[in-house]
Amino acid sequence: MTAERHMTRLSGEKIVEGIGLGKVFFIDKDFSLIPHLTLRGGQKAREKEKRRFMNAVKKCEKELTAIMEERELPKEALSILEAHRMMLVDPTLTGGIGDAILEKGINAEWAVLSVFEEMAERLAGSGADYYLKAKAADLEVIKDKLLISLLGGMGHASYIKDLPEEDFILCAHSLTLSDLSSLAKNKHIRGIALEVPGGVSHLTIVLRSIGLPAVLGLDGLLTEVAGCEEIVVDGLSGEAVVCPTMTQKIAYIQKKKVYDEYFERFLTDVGDPAISQDGARMHIGANIEGEEEVELSKRYGAEFIGLFRTELMFLEKEEIPTEDDHYAVYYEMLHRAHPMEVTIRVFDFGGDKEGRIHATGAMGLRGIRFCFLYPDVFLPQVRGLIRAASLGNLSILLPFVSAVDEIREFKAILKEQAKDLKLEKNLKHIKVGAMIELPAALFIAEMLAREVDFFSIGTNDLVQYLMAVERQDKALSQYFSHFHPAVLRALYNLSHIAKKYKIGLSVCGEMGGDPYFTLLFMGMGITSLSMSPIAIPIVKKIVRSGYLEEGKALLNRMLMTTSEMELREILEREMEERYPNIFRKAWIDNIRKNGD
Ligand code: PEP
Ligand code: MG
Repeated sequence: MTAERHMTRLSGEKIVEGIGLGKVFFIDKDFSLIPHLTLRGGQKAREKEKRRFMNAVKKCEKELTAIMEERELPKEALSILEAHRMMLVDPTLTGGIGDAILEKGINAEWAVLSVFEEMAERLAGSGADYYLKAKAADLEVIKDKLLISLLGGMGHASYIKDLPEEDFILCAHSLTLSDLSSLAKNKHIRGIALEVPGGVSHLTIVLRSIGLPAVLGLDGLLTEVAGCEEIVVDGLSGEAVVCPTMTQKIAYIQKKKVYDEYFERFLTDVGDPAISQDGARMHIGANIEGEEEVELSKRYGAEFIGLFRTELMFLEKEEIPTEDDHYAVYYEMLHRAHPMEVTIRVFDFGGDKEGRIHATGAMGLRGIRFCFLYPDVFLPQVRGLIRAASLGNLSILLPFVSAVDEIREFKAILKEQAKDLKLEKNLKHIKVGAMIELPAALFIAEMLAREVDFFSIGTNDLVQYLMAVERQDKALSQYFSHFHPAVLRALYNLSHIAKKYKIGLSVCGEMGGDPYFTLLFMGMGITSLSMSPIAIPIVKKIVRSGYLEEGKALLNRMLMTTSEMELREILEREMEERYPNIFRKAWIDNIRKNGD
């Protein structure tokens, strides 16, 4: 009965389709309500408060040691936890907080906040290099741990240890990419609900590669789930139902069954190539974030790995990855993927994927620019790639290209390093490609085409920079649109240029896996798309049941539209009418009715 009283439906953004039901498991990282108290009771009270703080330190240390001892954690995770443990017991830190309590007569939480704030400021002012971010992130973790312990609550610090042993939905304000990756491996997790907006952030990209039902942008989620036992994540409607009633639960179980059956249908022939009814071939690849996703990609019908985002793999690493670290990962990836072709993109730090190696946000120092500026980070990667290339089928992709010189400089580095490694013979196995994701690259595409073996169109950034709207900005999401006539024209031009210069071309941004665009891509003469593995089965189905000729006709119609709204309306209508069994608005509405 309690459940009925509290039932709340929250609306957000659908990020990954599917239905997940389970216990609420929430990570509360909002410390905005931390009490700031001046202690009464003189010296005695101050000393008592200091003891409370020292007990919290001991508790956190014990917790960390227990995690390190009890869990089978990868080497990297262990070294991060050990570094955190050492920082936690560092006498400069604990002493500073203890002194603040004694001298200022403030409560421990306040002292923790103020000492950490000072440290963060000192760090920011020290002009430290790109490791600044790493240190700041570590401080945040320790601060959170101490606060949670002092406040006596359950939170971030304990969640890895205390994950439920039954189906659960992970609810949080936000998650780091590394937290997300480790949580997603739990066998009881059934869905993810977050307060942060999604857009085309890297969080959403990683969520797609995980494939669990996910809804983001759920305002007020944490307030609503507090005190509730269960939640439903509806990745089809983009909703979360907190404290569902028994009737709703039954309806959602039914909806899940119907959806799972619907999706299963596309899996029956995923292994077959995507060839249209009139014989046009579309090559479909997978975008992945780690070598362990190769199997999943094959299962979903990938014919090649079109984008391996290396930076996501090394985001949380304490040390700069060595040449051997790189080699081990790339060797494993090429080995597992064989005989598929694999496109490995060099580090694209910056934007919203900064982690421990720090670049400067969306503008300026990103991608290949960052790589050139920090050879100590980049050269080990280049050398690892050259060594792994002996296995064959390797393409190297350069992100954030804005000038022909960048390609030339990269090729010179490649040659020089191969010579140094005495592995020049491996170069003949390597193709070099440019991401086309900046407006500058669009306008010099003909010049770039003369220098590279292939283009890979990064629509996520291309739309961001063409439309001047941050890709994860929810408030301005109407401007971040794949349906804008400028985007259509950009892609169409690029397909002409690639054909003219006889180089490969693939669309690897999220747009590539959007089934509404598949026929249009065919019409443009694009023959290769790369996408999250879960998107592959449906896109393949569209190619197989479509005709190249209708793609061309559709393209001609779309080229005549003059606004985003018009293009969107016509394209959505046409595709939904053409493929009623795939675009299931009516189908979803039907189940929805049952679900309410
Ligand atoms: C893109 O920008 O479209 C892309 C594929 O790269 P990323 O999303 O990693 O920036
Ligand atoms: Mg990009």
